[in-house]
Parts: sequence; structure tokens; C-alpha cells
Amino acid sequence: MSEPKATVPKRKSSKKASPAKNIKASSPSKPVTCEPCDTLPASVARQIRYGLCHTEHQATSIFDALANGVKEQMLDQWRNTRLHDNTFEQKQVAYLSLEFLMGRALGNALLNLDLTDQTKTLLTDYATQLEDVAELEHDAGLGNGGLGRLAACFLDSCASLDLAVTGYGIRYQYGMFAQKIVDGYQIEKPDRWLRLGNPWEVRMAHRIVSVPFFGHTEVYQDKQGNTQHVWRDCQYVLAVPYDMPVPGYRNGRINTLRLWKAEANDDFDLAEFNDGDYAEAVADKNLAEQITMVLYPNDASQNGKELRLRQQYFLSSASLQDLLARYVAVYGDDFSQFAVKNAIQLNDTHPSIAVPELMRLLLDTYGLSWEKAWQITTATMAYTNHTLLPEALEKWPVSLMRYMLPRVLEIIFEINARFLEQVAHKWPGDTEKLTTMSIIEEGPEQHIRMAYLAIVGSFSVNGVAGLHTQLLKAGLFNHFYQLWPNKFNNRTNGVTPRRWLINCNPELTSLITKKLGEDWIKDLSNLTALNAFTSEAAFVKKWAQVKLHNKQILADFVKKESGVEFDPSMLFDVQVKRIHEYKRQLLNIMHVIHLYQRILKGDTENMVPRCVLIGGKAAPGYAMAKQIIKLINNVAHMVNDDPLVTPYLRVAFLPNYNVSAMEKICPGTDLSEQISTAGKEASGTGNMKFMMNGALTIGTLDGANVEMIEEVGSENFFLFGLNAQEVEQQKHAYNPQAFIEQSPALQQVLAMLKGGHFNLVEPNIFDSIIQAICDPHDQWMLAADFDDYCRAQEDVARLYANQAKWHKTSIRNCAASGRFSSDKTIAGYRDDIWKS
Ligand SMILES: *Cc1c(COP(=O)(O)O)cnc(C)c1O
Repeated sequence: MSEPKATVPKRKSSKKASPAKNIKASSPSKPVTCEPCDTLPASVARQIRYGLCHTEHQATSIFDALANGVKEQMLDQWRNTRLHDNTFEQKQVAYLSLEFLMGRALGNALLNLDLTDQTKTLLTDYATQLEDVAELEHDAGLGNGGLGRLAACFLDSCASLDLAVTGYGIRYQYGMFAQKIVDGYQIEKPDRWLRLGNPWEVRMAHRIVSVPFFGHTEVYQDKQGNTQHVWRDCQYVLAVPYDMPVPGYRNGRINTLRLWKAEANDDFDLAEFNDGDYAEAVADKNLAEQITMVLYPNDASQNGKELRLRQQYFLSSASLQDLLARYVAVYGDDFSQFAVKNAIQLNDTHPSIAVPELMRLLLDTYGLSWEKAWQITTATMAYTNHTLLPEALEKWPVSLMRYMLPRVLEIIFEINARFLEQVAHKWPGDTEKLTTMSIIEEGPEQHIRMAYLAIVGSFSVNGVAGLHTQLLKAGLFNHFYQLWPNKFNNRTNGVTPRRWLINCNPELTSLITKKLGEDWIKDLSNLTALNAFTSEAAFVKKWAQVKLHNKQILADFVKKESGVEFDPSMLFDVQVKRIHEYKRQLLNIMHVIHLYQRILKGDTENMVPRCVLIGGKAAPGYAMAKQIIKLINNVAHMVNDDPLVTPYLRVAFLPNYNVSAMEKICPGTDLSEQISTAGKEASGTGNMKFMMNGALTIGTLDGANVEMIEEVGSENFFLFGLNAQEVEQQKHAYNPQAFIEQSPALQQVLAMLKGGHFNLVEPNIFDSIIQAICDPHDQWMLAADFDDYCRAQEDVARLYANQAKWHKTSIRNCAASGRFSSDKTIAGYRDDIWKS
């Protein structure tokens, strides 16, 4: 980052009277100085003495003091970054996302600020150690899964690449639910992650904005005779920003994650409420605060709740008002530089209502013409699509939009009318195109197609892996691709190597650094140099020792969380991700049942002993996903209880899979399961974390697996199953019975399930699962892929039996993982989309 300017850019003076007239706001004649808290130990000591007001030092107060101390160490750089960014020397990027799955912040901050060693030393004075203190931090679980974690990895890479990117999200009071397993069933517990306070956040009350809801619109002619629109009688909700620091990797930049909290606006007329009942009126107003109460726990599906649309608009409006205010403070009413100086990235359609909202603000608040406002909007917005699954494509009823956001609906209709003129121009006389491409879906009830709104309003539309982007262009968005081929581009996802290798796997990091020096940390593609050492026996041996130790750590964790004993000499076979039919945890457990049957039959010659770990949360309303969790738990129970089986096979369901769990899981994994039905997983990012940590992958030709194979070579990857094209072709005449007839193994698995072997005391609970496997409408094609999956699993076992070869392949996988650093992904966004 270039040296920040010492002066604050002048804000245009506000016409509003200052609310604090009695306080003189003139600048002091002498600058006020204070002693900087120049060292971390001083900051921590001060926090303990003066910051916390505790009488005794419990472990949690050490964590609080340390986190506050680390934050204090960031404040000067954070302020300097802001001063610099307020000059708009660099283009400013706003990353809008309903989800940021940040996990813990302490380890990441210490690594990026290069304070880890110092912290380890200073904690000895407090008779504790960093590993234990770090465990006390509650995960910031403001996301469901891959999409939210991607946003978090992106923030780390943006700061590390010195980009002026602000994350805008919602400060949910309740994050992703905590999962408990009771009698094999998922139970959801609320996640009150803020209960003990959040030491990282800063409430920025001076940046509050108001977000309108409800009311109605009116049209009038202004003095110049132009038609103007006003949104009248709306109710305002206050959006209060809470900022979290996002430190770059040792580069002096501290970016911001700005999370909005909804609060009731207090200038209301008491007479409106219950005959002046003050207390009731205040309580009623608290309804506003529900907007940011809870994260919706649905992954890859929309649930269409009114409150969710309120969240989406609340985030979009507050964030746009915030960035407009920053711009206007420097450029006044000259909007000619707006699109040059700003880019807005929409993380899926969740914040896509930002398109009409930016139009509204430019038209109604700043008085621009439609043409100018549209030019600015479509030169600023960029949209990332995350899924092809139809159940995930957001649509909002027009009636709901009319009642909740009447002015926004008017603008959507106008955008659509002008867009359809373009369609008519491109395809004269083709009325079917008008219906299929319209932002408004006709039917008994009209709906707004949010993905189409996002495409029409953006200059860039990107998919998240090569295959996914290709499928978007050929299928779902084909007409739009024909109209605007240049809007479409691919940005394959990535993960931050700081959290997902350096911080979570210190032993492997130090082994690699001993061989390669430190350069690979700043440019992960340098990991390819590891390939030169695969024939160096001493290095391979050390590599194997590190893995073994990480497996021991994982085994301890699995034991603590699930009660199941894993033996680190066995193959660790892991599938952790949201539970969804398309991800096919069911295929995995069918293979486990197959192995179990082989063991019961005594067919164990050359069998490689395995520990199978499965973890993930099901959406609370997703009955089939919850049944699959129950089946995994019941199978685990039968397997683990049989002393004749456990030398060969053990199965654990890990409760409450989250970011911190993954930080322990991926270093200790031998085999990563990425087995979605081809064409259904947009990218996957869990696959990349495992690869970085030297796991081998068994997987389909889906999402980023395709590119992983390109990097590592198919001889170092266990590929199986139908490809996306074959899945599409078979769909219309899928006949699972034919596959079952060909496969004795599959027949036996089905027979055992039907016989109730895993549910003797709970008859019929797995009927829906058995039916799904045998259903000609099974979109996930379990029966079709089962035999080839078992064949690939045998290849896995054969390679694992040759440990030297296995570990060489492990090294090759790690060496090939550099392409999946989110630093590389973000460099692509920077160069090809943001041009920042
Ligand atoms: C990486 C990650 C995901 C995404 O995993 P996929 O296998 O790509 O679905 C989900 N949840 C958590 C906690 C993660 O760390």
C-alpha cells in the first residue's frame, strides 16, 4: 500500500443543522496527542487491568484481553487504511453478501500481523498457551456453508493483495444454529454468538443510515416540469454499522467488514400507538429489530419468507447509502466518476435488489436522469452466480414487493420494460423470448426473477468454476449469453492458504518452508517445487510423519465430539459439508454398508482398514437430509459396536461441523470425498482445503474437481461416475432397476436396508431413502454411480496399502493446489472485473 495521506478529505458541509449545536466542533488549535500503545504485551496488560473490570482472571478474560489487545494494535493501521481509501486514489469495491462465515479471528489476525510468536511468549506470563486461548473464541458463524466461507476467504485475500474492498453484511444476533445429535437425529440449538460480547467489533454510530419500508408512491411534476416520484408514508428502520477489522498479510492494510444491525427509529408519534401507551409503543417498534435477528439456515434453496426479503433490502439499501455518502463526501454531485471509482460485487442474487435500489437512490435522492442512473448502475454492478439448482433460484412475488417496497417495484417494472425493448430488437417478432427472458414471470401470481434482474443490471456475470460457467452459458442463462456474450466470465473459486494451510497445519507449513524457503507463502503456485522431492525418501518419510501426527490430533477431536475411537494407522476417509442430496452423503454411506457386509462375510483379505468421518448440518426443514443424518448415525452405531468389524471399519458422524472443526479436520484427512452428481456442485471449496493439506480426492467430474484433475493429473485422483453430459442424457430415461440388476453389491446393500438391519427398533424410518435410490426420478443417480464408486474405492485402498506411493501422491496433490489459492481468484476479479 502506498503511504497514506496525512489529511482527511474534506466532506461537503451538510445542510442539516448539527444535532449537537452546543458542542463546539471547531478543530483544536494544537493536535491532541497520546502515547501509542506500542507493544502487544503492553496492550494486553492494560486490557486486563483497565479494560475488563474483572476481579479474577478466568480463561475467557485472557481471551478477551488478548483479542482487545490485538485489535488495539491494529487501530492505527486501520485508521490509516480508511484515510487512504477515503481519497479514492484506488477504486473502491463493495462485496455485498448475506453471509460471511468468518470462523474465529484470533489465529488469523496474529498470523497476518506477524504477532504469533510474540503472543506465545507473552501468554507464558499468564500461565496459559495460545492453542488453549484460541479455543475459547466462539466462531462467527454468519453463513451456511461454501458461499459464506467464500466471502470470508475473499476478504482475507483482498486485504492481502492490498485491494480497497469493504465487505458488507448483516450482524445477525443468531448465527448458524449449533447441531446436536440425539438418538441419531439432528437437533438445532440457537447460536447466540454475541452473548459474551464480540471483542473485534466497533459500533460506528456516526454512520447510521435509515432504510425505508412499506408506504406508497406518488407522482408529481417538479418546477422544471419533470415527472418525479416520491415514496411516501414509509416506515424507517435504522441501520447501525458494526465494523470488524480484516488485516492483510503483513502489508499494513486493514480492511473492513461492515455488518449492519437493525434498530428502531425513535422519532415516532406516540398517539399512533395504543392511545399513547408509551411502553407498548416502544415494544412495538422493536419489531424493526427482528430484521437482523437470525440467519436463515437454508443452503442451496430459497424459502421465500417475507423477513428474508426485508433482510436483503435492508443490507442492500444501507450499504449503497453508505458508499454513496463516502463518494459524495469527495466528489459532491459530480457522478461522472462514480463507476470509475466504485465496483459492487453481488454474492449470488441475495443482494440483487441492490440493482433497483441504486437506481432509486440516484434518481430520487440525487436527482439523476434515468439514462445517467442506468449507465452508472450497469457500469458498477457485477453478479456472481453460485448454483444451477432450480430450487435455489430466487423469485419474489410481485404482490409482496408492492406492499413492502412499492417504489422499488416501480423501478423494477421500468427496468424490465426497457430491457424487453432490447430483446424485441434483437429477436424481432419472437414473443416467446419476451416471456422466457422477462424479469417478471407471469402465472397465477407474478414473480420477480432475481437472477435475471441481476444479469440485466450488471456489467459482469460470473460462474465459480469452468464447468459451472460453461453450463450457465449453455443452459440456464443461454438467452442472456446470446444477447450479451461479453458479460459472462469464469472465476474459479479458491480458499485462503493463510487459514487453510499455514495457520491450521503448522507442521506441514514448517516442513514445506524448510524445503522451499518462505516464498511459497506469498505465491502458492511455488508449491509445485515440492514435486522435485517426491523421490527423496527422507522427505517422504517426514511428510508421512506430519500426516500421522495430524491424524492423531483429528482422532482426539473425533473422540471428544462423537465418542468414536479412530486409529491413526487406518485410512481416514472424510466427507464434511452441508448435508444435501446432490452432495450424495447417501452414496458414501451405501459404500460403508457394502464394506460392512464384506467384513461380516469374512471377505477381508487385503482389506485396508478405514475410519469414515461424515459431518454437516441439514437445513431444519429438509426432511430427506435429516433422514440421511439418522441413517449415518445408525450405521455408525452398528459398525462401531461390533468388535469383529472395528479392526477394519469405524464410522463417526461429527456433530456441529463448522469452520473451526474444518481447521482440525483437513490436516488429518487422507481421502477427501467430493462425490456430487456431476453438473450439480457449482465449484466446491472443501475439496481445495483438503488438497492443500495433502489429501487425495475421490470424486466425480464436477465443479472445481475438473480443474483439480487438470492440475494434479488423473493418475493422482480417484475419478468415477457419470459426467455432466451423461447425467443430462440419462435423466429422461433413467432406469435404476437396470443398475440394481447388474450389481450384486447394490442388491445386498438394498436388501440390508429393507430388512431393517439398522433400524430394528424403529421400523420403516428409512423407507423414503430406499425409495429414493430406486426411483426413476432420482435426480442424483445413486444407483447409476454406485458400482463405479466402489471400484474407485478399491483403487484407493490399493494405493493406501503402498504407503510410500500414497505419500508421494499426497505431496503431488499439495504441490498442485496453488491454483486454488483465493489470492489467485481475487487477482482475477481485480484484473478482469473490478479493474481496480
Ligand atoms: C469450506 C467449507 C464449506 C464448503 O464445503 P464444500 O465441501 O465445498 O461444500 C462448508 N462449511 C464449512 C464450515 C467450510 O469450512
